[in-house]
Amino acid sequence: YPQQGSLVVLGAGESGVGAAILGKDKGFDVFVSDKGTIGASYKHVLEDEGILYEELQHSEEKILGASLVVKSPGIPDQAPLVQMLKKAGVPVVSEIEFAAQYTDAKLYCITGSNGKSTTTMLTYYMLQHGDLRVGLAGNIGKSFAWQVARSDYDVYVLEISSFMLDDMYHFRADIAVILNITPDHLDRYDHRMENYVASKFRMIRNQTERDYFLYCADDAETVKGLAIYKTSAQYLPFSQQQEMVPGAYLDKDQNIVINIPNKETFAMNIEELSLQGKHNVYNNMASGLIAKVQELRNQTMKESMGSYVNIAHRLEHVACIGGVNYINDSKATNVNSVWYALESFSPEIILIMGGVDKGNDYEMLRDLVKSKVKAIVCIGKDTVRIHESFEEDTAIIVNSSSMLDAVEMASHLAKKGDTVLLSPACASFDWFKNYEERGDKFKEAVMAL
Ligand code: ADP
Repeated sequence: YPQQGSLVVLGAGESGVGAAILGKDKGFDVFVSDKGTIGASYKHVLEDEGILYEELQHSEEKILGASLVVKSPGIPDQAPLVQMLKKAGVPVVSEIEFAAQYTDAKLYCITGSNGKSTTTMLTYYMLQHGDLRVGLAGNIGKSFAWQVARSDYDVYVLEISSFMLDDMYHFRADIAVILNITPDHLDRYDHRMENYVASKFRMIRNQTERDYFLYCADDAETVKGLAIYKTSAQYLPFSQQQEMVPGAYLDKDQNIVINIPNKETFAMNIEELSLQGKHNVYNNMASGLIAKVQELRNQTMKESMGSYVNIAHRLEHVACIGGVNYINDSKATNVNSVWYALESFSPEIILIMGGVDKGNDYEMLRDLVKSKVKAIVCIGKDTVRIHESFEEDTAIIVNSSSMLDAVEMASHLAKKGDTVLLSPACASFDWFKNYEERGDKFKEAVMAL
């Protein structure tokens, strides 16, 4: 990529502003363009740094004259401006790709359809406990580019989405993790699963023998992908179904066992993990493997895996009222994460779900709904598919008019010992700003009971 000239940054969010700062530090002539309004705090930063910007428009001529463009992952490739840039031969890259050129730190990168944030945060927490100088970035926290410009870490744990991967070409991960691949965001991939799988496997491009590739051997799409996409990195699979050496597996006594050549073996019973649920066993295996590659002491790993408290909105326990547990899983924005949520609780469950349907196929939930779910309370605009999919499997499916309404209905349907679970399987932007607001409204409604 050009190391000087004009750098145009499309989108002035956390990643864009970070890229602009790093670009300026490296001597680029930087221009930031956002089609929407730019947040006041970001404007201040740009002004303080003396970086030119525009909002509510894209000045095409100026942008098409760029030597290099860093684009926000929120802007799809199909956007006319991006198409024009590609036609004009201007390289368009993600903030991660851009910033990675300017750091020697080790990059531990986590992608997957579900569990990214949890695994990224857990890994970060463990490495901090191992006294490493470690940064947290990607889809989470402060921008990677910003930290590369202004901080000094030896290691970064990066949460990587498929949208970021789409604009990554030369990037090399010291450790690449693919947690799982299940349908999500297919609207951005021509509704073709193979395109989405291809995007996830970009994670292992450019890896060498010194690097590691961690993946879930129980995940069908990932295993299919292994036949197509190759790397020279050392493969470290993890599984709850078969013994994996090297790699991680669950032994007959329910211990997570981690074996990596030339490193101490690690074992810990899953009952001692602070994050419970089958999905979190996978997340702990992935984080544990990273920690072991990094040669953390077993004692440090155990302490971390036994004490980590997850961030909000992921199977978050809100309250127990009249013997009924209320769980906020607002971050479950696709069908597969709802499957794991239902897996994690015993019957009876009152499930609150719905919102903006992303082309969901609810078939995989039917058995669990039949065996565990007493009632479904629908929220949001797309409720027809939910009614159609589950009318044979559960006696009660009702619509609500607001989150408050939904929680009140659920509380009337629940008896002592039941669980009320918000796990929507859908996007939130019909009734809410984002999944955080949806989860917060749920928590408020629960507290109002
Ligand atoms: P992401 O960042 O990939 O969206 P999160 O860690 O925020 O993932 O978790 C989102 C939801 O996905 C959780 O609430 C949980 O229900 C589900 N989940 C977490 N880890 C996994 C996993 N390894 N496999 C399947 N589902 C998971």
